[in-house]
Amino acid sequence: MAAFAEVAVSLPMDRTFHYSVPQNLSETISVGKRVFVPFLNRAIVGYVVGLCDEADVKNVKAIISVIDREPVLTEEMLKLTRWVKDNYFCSWGEAIAAVIPAGIKKGKEAIGSRLKSADYENEKFPQSTPHDLVEEQSRALKSVIESVDKHEHKTYLLHGITSSGKTEVYLQAIDHVLKSGGQAIMLVPEISLTPQTIERFSSRFGDHVAVIHSRLTAAKKFLEWKRIKDGKANIVVGARSAIFAPVKKLGVVIIDEEHETSYKQDDVPRYHARDVAEERARLNNCPLILGSATPSLESYYKAKAGVYRMIKLTKRIDERLLPKVKIVDMRMELASRRRIEVFSKVLLDAVANTLTAGKQAMIFLNRRGFSTFVNCKKCGFVVKCKRCDTVLVYHFETKKLICHYCNYTTNAPDICPSCKSSYIKYLGLGTEKVESEMSHSFPHAKIARMDSDTTAKRGSHDRILGDFKTGKANLLVGTQMIAKGHDFPLVTLVGVVSADVSLNIPDFRASERTFNLLTQVGGRAGRGEDGGEVVIQTDTPGHYAILAAAKHDYDKFYSEEIKSRKELLYPPFINLVKVTVRARNDQFAAQTAMELQEAIKLADPEMLIAGPSPAPILRMRGYYRYNIMLKHKDRLAMCALLKKVLNSFRKPHGILIAVDVDPVAM
Ligand SMILES: [Zn+2]
Ligand SMILES: [Zn+2]
Repeated sequence: MAAFAEVAVSLPMDRTFHYSVPQNLSETISVGKRVFVPFLNRAIVGYVVGLCDEADVKNVKAIISVIDREPVLTEEMLKLTRWVKDNYFCSWGEAIAAVIPAGIKKGKEAIGSRLKSADYENEKFPQSTPHDLVEEQSRALKSVIESVDKHEHKTYLLHGITSSGKTEVYLQAIDHVLKSGGQAIMLVPEISLTPQTIERFSSRFGDHVAVIHSRLTAAKKFLEWKRIKDGKANIVVGARSAIFAPVKKLGVVIIDEEHETSYKQDDVPRYHARDVAEERARLNNCPLILGSATPSLESYYKAKAGVYRMIKLTKRIDERLLPKVKIVDMRMELASRRRIEVFSKVLLDAVANTLTAGKQAMIFLNRRGFSTFVNCKKCGFVVKCKRCDTVLVYHFETKKLICHYCNYTTNAPDICPSCKSSYIKYLGLGTEKVESEMSHSFPHAKIARMDSDTTAKRGSHDRILGDFKTGKANLLVGTQMIAKGHDFPLVTLVGVVSADVSLNIPDFRASERTFNLLTQVGGRAGRGEDGGEVVIQTDTPGHYAILAAAKHDYDKFYSEEIKSRKELLYPPFINLVKVTVRARNDQFAAQTAMELQEAIKLADPEMLIAGPSPAPILRMRGYYRYNIMLKHKDRLAMCALLKKVLNSFRKPHGILIAVDVDPVAM
């Protein structure tokens, strides 16, 4: 019987703690259970990660009580969370806290026992059967099945153009795993986790499917977690955090739209689900399938190098043609029409033709609101956020000015706050304005808008999509929400109001994101029998991301982009770590960031360090922020070194430091 327990706690401390096991708990304690332990004069929840006969210090305190009857963490989850801790700069306890549903984190046992199972309604869907596969799909499936049967870990990159039938390959791979007694985890981006997506799985696999996403209540999340843990659900469909689902016989992991940045968590632990999935598949000797029409540069690079196995789907289902793409140079448009217009003549004509033909169109702009900035014509004053260095966006429906970073909201001014003149101008363009301009140009069109403003209410997302699907609306205006996976056979036209919105972000991934968005949104056109057309408006028609997207040429984009990544030394050629130092005082934050940078340099003179430099938006929610960028070939070594430096760095009071490994935003 072990005398001591090694316990991890969910605090930012890079170590575990030893506690003695009192006689009365020696029977019930075991690895993977939660315990109450004394910590700085209070009782907190800890996780037993090991049992031992000796303690690392004298005078250890005793465990107060054991919370669980059954361990909440398996051996595998302990290994996986330790890997997360080593790779993503957090403590073991913080990593563990991320894999356990919030409902049981507080130290209560099984809140679910108070809920009746009737609270969990399992909708019934009509049964669907496997579709026949085309040759490319069968070959893809065959490779994956081989790995499943051989219990070998291999990562497949399924690079399939839009509408090439990736999902059917996923479904049949999962089916094979289930039939051989295994379980499956399927990740999709949060934004794509719509009832339609869930229906595709439920109609094939019935109530074997568990769904995990952030909109579930804590109680429902716990119930799903419990169903999975008890082996009552064999397929987990979910967003990022579903990668930690407690399945015991993992046979395959699938990540759809693997390039999506939403797979990266932006809070502690700042893990990337794709990398965690690879580690988990490795621990379980099972294949991982990464699917995308526009793979991340990192994954494609690995596939080309042979680290991943590349599988291509090059044909659209039913041999549907890819849409024709027209690029419109908005600078020429401005010169010929002598005033700023939201829509080019080409786009207006295309919309008119589409509506006349009884078809549907989607109009895309990745920016919500009405006017993106409000200023005074007389003195030039621009209305800014009180807490951030950002410009407030005018929302017509609510008549409010809103900060899109911190949600600060204020009334739109009638007179200039600075010079008291009444010449207030509303400039810039968001989806609200696009909707209103479209209704001016096409008064008879039935227009719907989809962005985070119109979908804030429960059920509104589905209602808008439903209206569009049934033809109640024939023009859908929206942000990237409309770019994802929806199948609307009547859509023959996609208009991109400005391709430059994502291109002008100060981030080395700006081109990649632009190419992805244009490809995804363009892929919405022509999914029916009528073919499709895409019109892209831009001020930079010669940019390779736009040109390649117009030609549906991923390889062309990749070859240009990878050159610049190599030249500037960015991923996939290097690992990045972003260290952010923030404080309420600008000078104080800058000074401390400088000191920290010097400490890192001293610890490793070879480390490539950029900065400290002000964050792209220096002040956010009242905090001034400075970034230090580290580049290194070896992520583990870099994290280890940084942990050492930060442990001995005397952090002044009032300073906050955040470390983001492989950041997806600068
Ligand atoms: Zn003014
Ligand atoms: Zn703000």
